[in-house]
Amino acid sequence: MTTSSVTTPVFPTGSVLGYPRIGRRRELKKAVEAFWAGTTTADELEATAADLRISTVQRLVELGLDASDGAVPGSFSYYDQVLDAAALLGAVPSRFASLTDADGRLDLAGYFTVARGAGDDAPLEMTKWFDTNYHYLVPEISGSTPFRFADDRVVRQFVEAKEAGVVTRPTVVGPVTFLALSKAADDAAPGFHPLSRLGDVVAVYAELLRALAAAGAPWVQLDEPILVSDSIDVPVADLHEAIEATYQALASELAVGTDRPAILVAAPFGGLQGEDGDGLALLAGTDVEAIAIDLVKGSVPAGPVAGLETKTLVAGVIDGHNVWRADLDAKLTVLEQLGALGAGAVTVGTSTSLLHVPHDVDEDVWDGTDGRDPRLKAWLAFADQKVAEVATLAAGLTDGRDAVRAQLDEASAAVASRATAAGVVVPAVRERAAALTDADFARGDYAERAAAQAAELDLPLLPTTTIGSFPQTPEIRRARALNAKGQLSDADYTAAMQDEIRRVVALQEEIGLDVLVHGEPERNDMVQYFAENLDGFAVTANGWVQSYGSRGVRPPILWGDVQRPAPITVGWSTFTASLTAKPVKGMLTGPVTILAWSFVRDDQPLGDTANQVGLALRDEIADLEAAGIGIVQVDEPALRELLPLRRADQGAYLDWSVRSFRLATSGVRAATQIHTHLCYSEFGEVIGAIDGLDADVTSVEAARSRMEIVPELAEAGYHRGIGPGVYDIHSPRVPSAEEVTELLELAVKSIDAKVVWVNPDCGLKTRRYEETVPSLEHLIAATKAVRATLV
Ligand code: GLN
Ligand code: ZN
Repeated sequence: MTTSSVTTPVFPTGSVLGYPRIGRRRELKKAVEAFWAGTTTADELEATAADLRISTVQRLVELGLDASDGAVPGSFSYYDQVLDAAALLGAVPSRFASLTDADGRLDLAGYFTVARGAGDDAPLEMTKWFDTNYHYLVPEISGSTPFRFADDRVVRQFVEAKEAGVVTRPTVVGPVTFLALSKAADDAAPGFHPLSRLGDVVAVYAELLRALAAAGAPWVQLDEPILVSDSIDVPVADLHEAIEATYQALASELAVGTDRPAILVAAPFGGLQGEDGDGLALLAGTDVEAIAIDLVKGSVPAGPVAGLETKTLVAGVIDGHNVWRADLDAKLTVLEQLGALGAGAVTVGTSTSLLHVPHDVDEDVWDGTDGRDPRLKAWLAFADQKVAEVATLAAGLTDGRDAVRAQLDEASAAVASRATAAGVVVPAVRERAAALTDADFARGDYAERAAAQAAELDLPLLPTTTIGSFPQTPEIRRARALNAKGQLSDADYTAAMQDEIRRVVALQEEIGLDVLVHGEPERNDMVQYFAENLDGFAVTANGWVQSYGSRGVRPPILWGDVQRPAPITVGWSTFTASLTAKPVKGMLTGPVTILAWSFVRDDQPLGDTANQVGLALRDEIADLEAAGIGIVQVDEPALRELLPLRRADQGAYLDWSVRSFRLATSGVRAATQIHTHLCYSEFGEVIGAIDGLDADVTSVEAARSRMEIVPELAEAGYHRGIGPGVYDIHSPRVPSAEEVTELLELAVKSIDAKVVWVNPDCGLKTRRYEETVPSLEHLIAATKAVRATLV
């Protein structure tokens, strides 16, 4: 237990776990990219970033967080918080060792090189951060990674803010989460796991904590979201042991106030109480001073919890991962219920960092233009609105409901108006969904379908196709931008896109592909395009959210019942079909992916929302079919992304997600061929679901893993069409015909050649024609070579 000679600081009543760092107008993106382009110096970038950090912490104080007690998170990053932790620890892969100075420190240029690679030196791998669309860099650790306190940036940023009048709470990825998310470096010994270096890493964190205490930081936040997941390669028991050891060393063995700040451990993205362990009891048993729990994804824990009586429970009642305004009165009730847990204090927080939502609703104009319904403004809360919500709840908690009555009433009124608003509930949509029966989710027997499709489509053995998009040229982007600004008429825009389609069709015929696509020139983004064309969605102009590094996305907001006011893709597909005698594949984005890459309404189960999207797509597919399109591909690259972090929740997810896809695709005749595309090659938990989609043809990424997935699918009993990608589209490298032949031979060796399709790994939109044309020519040459061996 902590000694009582030094008084432990009191945790602020209202705080947030983190705040967007890209800047309201993406100032950081612009500054970082200018530095990369060589038009500014490191000093200039540092200065811009410092201005941004200071205006951010001051803004947070203006919005109601306390300036003096660590309520304001110090959560800035130039690129990624996991890379920051690696830089703090000097954990740089050996190929980048020359970038560090004698103390293991990376300068800014070196930091970005580790993130982005240089020449033959590949950057750190990038992967999804828990269940968000944020991507972090995966540290590479081995037995010889030289951990040391290499970078005191966190301390300097604390001092910088303090000098500007704001005492922040430095926020760092916790040691256990850092190592659990790292991977063994290529030169690590066989069987090595990064977690075995915990002691060395914790020793560096101890140094950091000492430095922060010396600088006067009352609090530090260590993020340990790994505690809400049980679907990683580390057994939960090992994780828990690592947490105990870590906080024994950091909390129990260091004296609060002198050797370290008070510690808040945050566990966003889900509940701490799982089937095989109770992370809340675990943390409550340590000597940390505060624990932040996610009460949006997680439920109110059963209590009382032993050990909590000496701690502050930071109740994440405000959703950091979605954009809806909260019912503050109901949240106050939740805060009151938490009394039963027996915590020393309960304070108000966000469920996650606000990194995952845009800065401010007021950055967009909500006047009905561009489909931004004015009513939405009152229903939404982006980061700044959420900070204000936290401040209101904190005042309510301290001074009683009456002190914030006006704000509570306003929030309740907004929530109530949303619940019944026209468009949020569309009776016709509800009635249609309620009338669905199992038959609406099922197609007929596959053998019959396959026979009907073979007769109708008359395709050769090993049919060749692409995944949909062709290179998005600067001309295409320019036409779209001009059209959006009103400087290019709709008619001229359509004509320009049709010209592009003509070129793409002619090219595919010349190359000799069997099933043609239109190339998707008219789509800015595979989800936003459908959001713009369906009722129930809004898209923003400035609602940017960091996706990775300097990249942002603007997720559409799915706010109402989804309907298709008019056919979306039918015109483009029929135009394409009119240009060729070959079969043309219609191209749609599936319901799960549309949900995964949007902010989705939180007032009904995701499965219900997915089915509404499924029905809209079902109508689109019916129209495509009626217009003579015999093949339709429904992309679901995000199927695996939404997989819940806890195994116990995965079955229900896979059930509704697969059903929504089947609802979209099962209305067609036997002879209409349904394709799907998934953007990965390791199926793991979703392999059964892929079969469950019941698509006639599934294309997957397979080149980098050398077709590994094909025997795996065959073993799992998958027997329908499979298009394992025969070349990697993520790199500009043109594969030789021999290489492609070799991969294709591997594929037909492990599964019946009759079910094999030949296609690239993914869409071609980010590639250039210089690479695309020879690559596709080699794909065709390889197909011909392998076909010759099969007949
Ligand atoms: N049809 C889309 C394309 O080709 C698929 C993209 C994806 O799977 N991410 O671009
Ligand atoms: Zn893909």
